Parts: sequence; structure tokens; C-alpha cells
Amino acid sequence: MDNCDICDTVGVPSDGAISWDIDATTETLIRRVSAGRMRELRGDVPLQDMLSLFESELKYTISVFVDCHDCGRVLFWGLCIRGNPILRHADRTEIDRWPWGPVPPGERWTRS
Ligand SMILES: [Zn+2]
Repeated sequence: MDNCDICDTVGVPSDGAISWDIDATTETLIRRVSAGRMRELRGDVPLQDMLSLFESELKYTISVFVDCHDCGRVLFWGLCIRGNPILRHADRTEIDRWPWGPVPPGERWTRS
């Protein structure tokens, strides 16, 4: 199960200094979820809200775990202010062990 058309192709390489294109990779995840190919398991905020929270710089790291329906693996996508985003497969048990932190109130960062 090393090559999955769904979850192994989520990452969009960045042409800048960081590893992955944050906007494009997040958009790809959102598209795969709305197409029913993947499912959000748990995140600091819903996938749809990740970019607005990230741009607000109110939370240092933003993480989400997504299930791949094709291969059954879990994909982790983590954003970090001024750092490299992380995209990797994760063990399902990581979700409960993850050090979820408080999320700033939505009225401070959601786009109206
Ligand atoms: Zn997969």
C-alpha cells in the first residue's frame, strides 16, 4: 500500500522555501473530502477554516487528521507559522494522543 492515488497525491510541492504549498495542499484536501474520497477525522478547526486561522497567525500550529477511503490510512497535515508544513501518514492512535491546544475564538479570525 505504498502508492495511493488519493492520499499520496495530496501534497502540492511549493516553489518557495517551504516543503509544501500550504494553500494548494489544503485546497486539495478539501476537494478530496468533498468528493467523498477522504474524511476529516479531527482537526484544530475544520479543513475549510484552516487557511483563515493560519493567516491570522493567532495559533502557532494547526493540525488535521484525514482518513483515506481508498487505502484506509490516516494522513496528517500540520501548518506551523513561519515553519515548514508537515504532510505525512499517521497512526490512527496518534489522534487521541495529539496535544490538541485551545483555538482562538472564531470571531477573531473567520472571514466574514
Ligand atoms: Zn490513500
